[in-house]
Amino acid sequence: MEMDQLYSDIILEHNQSQENKRELEKFTLQEHGHNPSCGDDITLRADIQDGIVKDAAYTGHGCAISQASADMMIDVIKGKTVEEALRLTNLFLDMIKREVTDDDELEDLEDAIALKNISNMPARVKCAVLAW
Ligand code: ZN
Repeated sequence: MEMDQLYSDIILEHNQSQENKRELEKFTLQEHGHNPSCGDDITLRADIQDGIVKDAAYTGHGCAISQASADMMIDVIKGKTVEEALRLTNLFLDMIKREVTDDDELEDLEDAIALKNISNMPARVKCAVLAW
């Protein structure tokens, strides 16, 4: 299977997943993000207890890339310490900026590595980084 095809399948899968797309009743943090160039609009909620991301979820609407990216991010940060979650967020942004290209280093990003080549499509970069 072509790598690009594999990555498209992962993005599609996360776009369709509803597991992280829900209204979080109990939360300590809420952030709203809007990407005017595409119309993506995401509200992210996280329940942080004792420095650990106990739960996180998002609501909103937007293109497949923005929704898939939000879903992937929640998978990555859930259960992590805030410090580790921030490190992973920065790692994702460095991957998008091509400052980190080593696959071993990017392994911690789990499925979000599928967005590695999004910088080939500059118009979609904002969609991919919105949630992060
Ligand atoms: Zn978008």
